[in-house]
Amino acid sequence: MKRLMPLLLAAALVGGCRPHAPVAPTVAVAPDVHATAAPVAAAVAPPIAPTVSVLELAPPVSERPGYQRPLLIDFHTHLSLDGQERIQRIMRENGIELMINLSGGSYRRGPSQWLEAKILADTLGGRVLNFMNPDWSGFGDPDWAKREAGRLDEAVTRYEFRGLKIAKILGLGAIDERTGKLVAVDDPRIGPLWQKCADLGIPVTIHVADPRAFWWPLNPQNERWDELKVHPGWAYGPIPPELAAEVPPRLKPPSWPELLQAAERMYRANPRTTFVAVHFGNAAEDLDYVDGVLARNDNVYIDLAARIGEFGRHPAAKLRAFFTKWQDRIVFGTDIGIGSDFLMLGSNGAVEPQLPDVRPFYEAHFRFLETAQQQIAHPSPIQGNWKVDAIDLPAPILQKIYRDNAMRLLDRTQLKAFAARKLTDEKQDIGTPDDRQRLK
Ligand SMILES: [Zn+2]
Repeated sequence: MKRLMPLLLAAALVGGCRPHAPVAPTVAVAPDVHATAAPVAAAVAPPIAPTVSVLELAPPVSERPGYQRPLLIDFHTHLSLDGQERIQRIMRENGIELMINLSGGSYRRGPSQWLEAKILADTLGGRVLNFMNPDWSGFGDPDWAKREAGRLDEAVTRYEFRGLKIAKILGLGAIDERTGKLVAVDDPRIGPLWQKCADLGIPVTIHVADPRAFWWPLNPQNERWDELKVHPGWAYGPIPPELAAEVPPRLKPPSWPELLQAAERMYRANPRTTFVAVHFGNAAEDLDYVDGVLARNDNVYIDLAARIGEFGRHPAAKLRAFFTKWQDRIVFGTDIGIGSDFLMLGSNGAVEPQLPDVRPFYEAHFRFLETAQQQIAHPSPIQGNWKVDAIDLPAPILQKIYRDNAMRLLDRTQLKAFAARKLTDEKQDIGTPDDRQRLK
């Protein structure tokens, strides 16, 4: 599994696509999937009928007296099929009704990765929804975006995927094979793929850039030293010789502001498409900037994943005002990664976390959002050796962030169908015999 998880996470990073193998069209296609042509943010979400398994949940009790937390949607997870038992346990123990798996995979290995993702969703009774990752190989070919849009259509209609996830490789690693240059985040040739998301009524979660300190010199004075010394390949500033050997050769990356500005140009150029800018709008360091992005772009949401430590450094009152202002555009997410013998909690250091660490990880999120405690540990101490002040959000805002905003971003009709569905053996009927063989 230690090999599989990085494979899944890196699916969008590496080239080498296979020919488009035919898949037996035996999975029913919900007729409403293509009818959702309006931006998904415009619709109203009816509640999901709770399933029996949901009623068995025993989440941690809030540290705010009398507060009853709703069932959560974790909008930012990375899941592997072989981790299904741990995923179920983690969902049950932390009050999570639905996980959005942003590592549904690209077409690089053919449809088998999508099949794995679908089997995971089916096995968990629809309590996981998968997002597709594009395959950047062949970029520069005039048909690249059309090819990926076609694959996305297949992932949505045949494998029940519910969104597209763009990794930070866009802007930092994906190569235009015609020119040998990095693909810019706002390259207009990606346009047909963004438009396909709008036509399908699915959101795009997008990771652009990384923490600002990753562009600073990599040395013990860098505030992210604990993290970067373990992952020197994440650093984009000057790297000391003893760590440089661990970093493969690469093109000079754009600056932090250049990447963020390109992202905003892309949001503006695609107003019909709904974007979830992950990691607190990709700029947790700059609250005013994220405020501006949300104000200027109605089609942008943000998630909280792996950045409480970073945005938690802003004064609590200012941050609380931000959450109040943008309460309809923020979704809860953690960046948890789960496989059979792999765990990631936002970000990992030299020592991998273990199952008993997961509940305190979620509790740290709850404590930050639900209480007014000061100078508390944030969920991923590897991401910064400092404390944060909690922001004590009112219950109606928590309801939106934990659940309602995510529901609005997803396809409600489909979700209701998922929630009502019993476990079936449908997985035996999809994919080619070859695909199923590969899964054994
Ligand atoms: Zn992530």
